[in-house]
Amino acid sequence: MTAPTGLIPKSKYFSLTPLDDGVWAALSIAGTGSWSNAGIIDLGEQTIIFDAFATPTAAADLRIAAKKLTGRPATVVLNSHYHFDHVNGNQVFQGIPIISTKLTREQIAVQQPRLIDVFKKNNTELLDQTKKEMEQEKSPEKRQELEYLLGDYSMIIKDTKRFKLTLPTITFENKITLNGVRMSAEFITYGGGHTISDSFLYLPKEQILFLADLMHIGYHADVRQGNADHWIELLKKVKKLKIKKIVSGHGTIGTAKDIDNMIDYLRTIKQIAIDWGRHGGTIENINEIEIPKNYASYGAPSIFHYNIKSLLEKGN
Ligand SMILES: [Zn+2]
Repeated sequence: MTAPTGLIPKSKYFSLTPLDDGVWAALSIAGTGSWSNAGIIDLGEQTIIFDAFATPTAAADLRIAAKKLTGRPATVVLNSHYHFDHVNGNQVFQGIPIISTKLTREQIAVQQPRLIDVFKKNNTELLDQTKKEMEQEKSPEKRQELEYLLGDYSMIIKDTKRFKLTLPTITFENKITLNGVRMSAEFITYGGGHTISDSFLYLPKEQILFLADLMHIGYHADVRQGNADHWIELLKKVKKLKIKKIVSGHGTIGTAKDIDNMIDYLRTIKQIAIDWGRHGGTIENINEIEIPKNYASYGAPSIFHYNIKSLLEKGN
């Protein structure tokens, strides 16, 4: 049994949006420690959790919501990529299968303990520094970004003591299909773009995509650990699927046209980096580059300059 729309559970870490019968997007509430979007999918006799937030606290709420919505505890968790804001909550689902690509699993094993260590060691320093930067920041967009960061950092630091590395238990190559009486869900990878390995969930009958960080809507997308060209090619392939709705990794719910916007964003930052280098701009003065008007209202504006820096360092 699926809960009627009026009975959708509330959480201070995310808001649930029904996308179809048995499909919900769990959109992150900025600065609360969830940090990225997730999803709950009711296959009929299985409940999928798509991505697990940045904190076990937020993930525990997601676990509760999934049970309320689908009438059964979560049965499987999917990790789209290794970034901590999508996998730190894995531990609250310990005991049930967690699925990712082999590369994502390897990266979680290396990166997660390192990051947890950083948060453990530098917790007051990190909070003080972010607070100081926020107080000095003149741009309202950057100030907002720092305020959210401060909130997210505080929540992560609060949870650090209980962090327990929880790796995916099942790995796949290319595609794994989860079949239920109500619907089937395909967990697919076309390789990497945003990171070394990015996976997404596709519901073919419902034509819904959970694209994780391959899609950002209203947010700057981070290319530092990925490859912009591969990302563009990957999105062109994704576009060939029949799509009604897309759940982004950061931002809102979109449609197929948001894939074009995402490709435009990646092409634009690449071109800006190329032009900057061509006209004698250096890495040291990239902060002089203005964010293009189309993206001026996007969240996480500091990512824009980090992207340009990274593209220049990599020689594009
Ligand atoms: Zn990411």
